[in-house]
Amino acid sequence: MSYLKTDVIVIGAGIAGLAAANSIAASGLDVTVLEARDRSGGRLDNHKFANGDIVDIGGQWLGPGQNRSYRLLAELGGSTFPMFNKGNNLFHCHEANRSYRGTIPSINPLYLAELGWLMWRFERMAAQITPDDPMSHPQAADWDSRTLHSWLQSNCISETAFDLFATGVAAVFAAEPRDISLLHALFYARSGNGWNNLLSVDGGAQQDRVVGGTASMCRALEKKMQGKVFHNQPVRSINWKARNVSVETETNEYHARIAILAVPPNQIRRLNFEPSLPADRDQLWQKMPGGTCIKCVAQYAEPFWRNEGYSGQSVAPQKTIRVTFDNTAPDSKSGLLMGFIEGDQARHWGTKSDVERRKEVLKCFAAVFGADALMPLDYVDRDWAAEPYTRGCYAALKGPGTWTSYGNLGRQPIGALHFAGTETASEWYGYIEGGLQSAERVTEEARIIFDV
Ligand SMILES: Cc1cc2nc3c(=O)[nH]c(=O)nc-3n(C[C@H](O)[C@H](O)[C@H](O)COP(=O)(O)OP(=O)(O)OC[C@H]3O[C@@H](n4cnc5c(N)ncnc54)[C@H](O)[C@@H]3O)c2cc1C
Repeated sequence: MSYLKTDVIVIGAGIAGLAAANSIAASGLDVTVLEARDRSGGRLDNHKFANGDIVDIGGQWLGPGQNRSYRLLAELGGSTFPMFNKGNNLFHCHEANRSYRGTIPSINPLYLAELGWLMWRFERMAAQITPDDPMSHPQAADWDSRTLHSWLQSNCISETAFDLFATGVAAVFAAEPRDISLLHALFYARSGNGWNNLLSVDGGAQQDRVVGGTASMCRALEKKMQGKVFHNQPVRSINWKARNVSVETETNEYHARIAILAVPPNQIRRLNFEPSLPADRDQLWQKMPGGTCIKCVAQYAEPFWRNEGYSGQSVAPQKTIRVTFDNTAPDSKSGLLMGFIEGDQARHWGTKSDVERRKEVLKCFAAVFGADALMPLDYVDRDWAAEPYTRGCYAALKGPGTWTSYGNLGRQPIGALHFAGTETASEWYGYIEGGLQSAERVTEEARIIFDV
């Protein structure tokens, strides 16, 4: 086992770890990044089809308000292109299609009014939350004692409005309303500039995509670290004190003044700490499971749905794939249709074989866009709950009582250990932008310690 010494060890080469490593290194400190996988990027990754077309198989969108992300992308020499959003969207219900434009599907006016009221009410409650301190709201304890499901039950009259709101919840959280505390859902919406914003394409969180894919940002950040990012180095154990830390992988032992853990909560719990971490921190992480999502992309000779005036966006609350998008990039040589399997459906389909899942996904695409969807050139999916070193997405969820019991504990340092990652963010929790906010915070923590 070799022995290496550095100022700062960053564990995890996702967007948060790499952004933190770069800005700390820019202060003149020696920084070493340890990454378990054979690539950087974590929840950001590309898939390359045989014809060279690239698709984001993890996180893909940027939108207004995610200023750090756009700034970083520009600094790295990257650029965005607008998400394809022309033509009619489709609402698929009881095996029939209805066209609509914008975010809200065309449904019976009574249900539409109910859904509109529900969204207005949720939005108004979310607007009252202070993202830095959700517990400061006078009703925080009450809202954190309920699930989003129980709030919907007491505020919905029709099953249609419930199902449509739940489809939005699945799209945003990769979970069911019963999995999430009402307070966490409100915090999440507030931290991402509002519920409607999280659901929207133009002017919202799904507005833009990154040329070459979001993972290209991580590759560029890694390159700037000039050989200080080590792949295939899963950290197994951490021996920590107040003013120094040693970290062991299978092959090496690293020593530093501080370590920054930029890995999701469920992964931190797989590490051995000596001495053990305080009980409250471990219990907080025990209560932060990842959501469940399988991202599916079918490749066709062309985006055939566009020929019929469709945008590729659809909502189908009763199907395995509840939402779809046209993931064809301007330079794609083929048509790429993307859909998410989320929450309960992902738990179910994650247990099935690749062949069964592909068949089901194509069946869903065909139900909405016609039989042409049954004959793709190629197909790929990624079950993020099955991925070692991630085990759930889009981000960790908080069920009832978690905010009340632990507040913002997750981002407080413990001795020489500091914590980054999107799950420690107050702005855009769960998003790339949240990862970058956390990187700013730990950079500041490091600068204070080293006085640089
Ligand atoms: C399917 C999907 C769709 C999404 N869509 C969007 C979107 O459109 N827009 C958006 O902004 N966000 C989206 N997200 C969320 C976004 O990808 C994440 O918020 C962000 O990438 C998190 O970055 P991070 O650095 O905090 O964590 P991660 O990306 O999870 O990075 C953690 C890193 O730590 C490594 N690691 C784990 N354990 C160890 C260990 N023991 N030793 C060493 N290394 C370890 C992991 O391999 C990983 O590289 C999506 C995510 C997914 C999966």
